[in-house]
Amino acid sequence: MERDGQLESIWQSEIKHYGQAQTDVTPNKEVVIVGAGITGITCALMLQKKGINSILVEANNMGFGTSGGTTAHLNTFFDTPYFQVIKDFGLESAKLLANGAMEVHDIIKDNINTYQIYCDYSTRPGYLFSLDESQDEELEQILEGHRQVGLDTFEVDNNPFGIPSVRVVEIPNQAQFHPLKYLRILLKEFINLGGLFLEDCRVTSVDKEGDDIVATTTKGNIISKHLVYATHIPPGRNIMHFRNAPYRSYVMAVKLRSGNYPEALGYDMFEPYHYYRTHNIDGEDYLIAGGEDHKTGDVDNTTDSFERLESYLGMHFDIESIAYRWSSQFYEPADGLPYIGHLPGSPDNVYCATGYSGNGMIFGTLAAKTISDIISTGSSDYQDLFSPSRVKPMAGLNNIITEAGSVIKHMVVDKLAVSKIVSLAELKNDQGKVVKYEGDTLAVYKDAGGVSHILQSDCTHLYCTVNWNQAEKSWDCPCHGSRFDINGDVLNAPAVKKLKNISELL
Ligand SMILES: Cc1cc2nc3c(=O)[nH]c(=O)nc-3n(C[C@H](O)[C@H](O)[C@H](O)COP(=O)(O)OP(=O)(O)OC[C@H]3O[C@@H](n4cnc5c(N)ncnc54)[C@H](O)[C@@H]3O)c2cc1C
Repeated sequence: MERDGQLESIWQSEIKHYGQAQTDVTPNKEVVIVGAGITGITCALMLQKKGINSILVEANNMGFGTSGGTTAHLNTFFDTPYFQVIKDFGLESAKLLANGAMEVHDIIKDNINTYQIYCDYSTRPGYLFSLDESQDEELEQILEGHRQVGLDTFEVDNNPFGIPSVRVVEIPNQAQFHPLKYLRILLKEFINLGGLFLEDCRVTSVDKEGDDIVATTTKGNIISKHLVYATHIPPGRNIMHFRNAPYRSYVMAVKLRSGNYPEALGYDMFEPYHYYRTHNIDGEDYLIAGGEDHKTGDVDNTTDSFERLESYLGMHFDIESIAYRWSSQFYEPADGLPYIGHLPGSPDNVYCATGYSGNGMIFGTLAAKTISDIISTGSSDYQDLFSPSRVKPMAGLNNIITEAGSVIKHMVVDKLAVSKIVSLAELKNDQGKVVKYEGDTLAVYKDAGGVSHILQSDCTHLYCTVNWNQAEKSWDCPCHGSRFDINGDVLNAPAVKKLKNISELL
């Protein structure tokens, strides 16, 4: 199975290809769902189960986006802690959020039971641990927030991951699964119920014609009554790009000499935090640990992020070997909660679901429930809490201003900072760089065999200059997180057009 980067995740290595997609059909359907990750597949199945004929359209293959690069912890607490949600949105909203998390756990368990899905699901306790006094102050606030929303949480003596901690708290009844084994069956059930699944089909624009939505795709037009952007961030140009900041996070699956693989989920309290779980694949146990998050396109050498993660893990675990390493993308919402519902500035029946932080297994499923309820009944219990048009608390406004400043810096300063080269021979093999060459600014990657892959360096979304990502061998835009492969093809929205490939013109 393909993913949006060069490195292979532990999940995708096991599931090679889905291979059941229908192709070359452009029918009229009631609902078009764009993007086959957890949000799109779950939403498509929920709609089809309600008898609403739907088509799921995916630019690449199932699990190509972050759902294929996730670590698939299933939590009842989130990156934005409940105490913060209480402060910014009020206690009732925080309780509704906690209720949403519980509801998602039931939905996932119900799907697993109903469809007999063998996806290595297991219920596990989660542990949050502070490693110094300042982290402990936040942990104290988290405990209080959990108490207020009624989420069972208590102090324990030991950290099951063996990391020396100031304080450890346990949150029972968290869970984990193999994300692609789960999604593959949901997709199969969607198709069994008469849903259509189109792979290798990118939606490039959406217009309103009378009461209809017309989606222009690379395989022709599709007409529908509703359209759901389940693309992790909606493509094209819209306000969601100013309310969400794209980040990359780094993951390793390692073998341990100790043979100690606790059946638990773990999180420290650094900013960004490290996250831990274990998984058994084909009789082999792995510790899966992640962290070292940074803004997309904002670091010079992404391989350093893996080195930092490895050396941090080496301080706490006796690593025998690294079996997998990969990175993936997520979106930080300005005010801490996802945006799920009508996409502002678009026709009435166009919806988006974005801003999940590192909690998209839960929020993706909750988005599917919210949007499928709005489409089928006209409303959802969660529509106000997650409304993309909501008025933001002050904290959110500050984040929006900071992000806008960062985008402007990248639009202007990055273009001036490009170094000149007189010959492509100045680049080393397996090196990528944005360079001034014979008067043009180009994104050039010279591969391991010495072949240059030359692209125009302006992102096709809003023309910021892309940056080289050595670890995933991609060109990443620091403004809104669009990513492209070495041939210029789109890896991540919001871009819908590829980078101009200059090599092909030579
Ligand atoms: C390293 C990492 C670890 C994480 N771990 C966890 C975790 O433990 N627990 C948790 O709850 N969350 C976790 N998350 C977050 C979670 O994985 C994501 O939020 C979630 O997978 C997003 O799912 P999605 O379906 O919305 O998007 P995606 O899975 O990204 O799917 C979007 C799909 O849309 C397609 N697409 C894009 N544009 C178009 C277009 N124009 N036309 C057609 N198709 C298009 C893409 O090809 C892609 O397949 C993690 C995130 C990262 C980065």
